[in-house]
Amino acid sequence: MSKKLYFYYGTMASAKTLRLLTTAYNFEENSIETLVMKPAQDTRDGDGVIKSRTGLQRPCVMVGKEDNVFLMIEKYNSELLAKFKKLEWVLVDEAQFLTEKQVDQLAKVVDILEISVMCYGLRTDFQSRLFSGSKRLMELADDLEEIKASCKCGRKTNINARIDSHGKVITEGDQVMVGGDDLYRPMCRKCWYKMISRQSKHE
Ligand SMILES: [Zn+2]
Repeated sequence: MSKKLYFYYGTMASAKTLRLLTTAYNFEENSIETLVMKPAQDTRDGDGVIKSRTGLQRPCVMVGKEDNVFLMIEKYNSELLAKFKKLEWVLVDEAQFLTEKQVDQLAKVVDILEISVMCYGLRTDFQSRLFSGSKRLMELADDLEEIKASCKCGRKTNINARIDSHGKVITEGDQVMVGGDDLYRPMCRKCWYKMISRQSKHE
């Protein structure tokens, strides 16, 4: 099988992390060497842990903004090679927080080190704009797949709406506000626009 860079994207609560965790579990059950990573920006689960809403969790390697992921993975792989093993898969959670440079480095991991890389992440932020990591993944990935979830109205969710304590949609502010998932509500674009226009009428 040829090595590929994959990007699985979706909104919050689309079970991306659960899919990553079950994939990692399956690989390891079959003795396939796997490295699980996560950008350090998202610290809500504490350092070095990936946690799904279902309660499933596992340790992971944290990636700092300045880290060269190619070098990190190359080093990890060379340690395995010394034990006559080879790294087969790299799984990345919250890949939207990777820098564009790091996504380029992951593409080199696929092409030069011949290790497949599977990234999971959000496509867009609370203003419906691409995250930088997701943008570069959309540009470079060999395989793109949307992980779908349903809005209350039955349509597909594609917006991560940021909601304040009064239940109002927030459309201004910093791209990242780490402080819990309760700040966000995944919904479809139509419901999002409807909430925003209803609010502006009341202002
Ligand atoms: Zn909807």
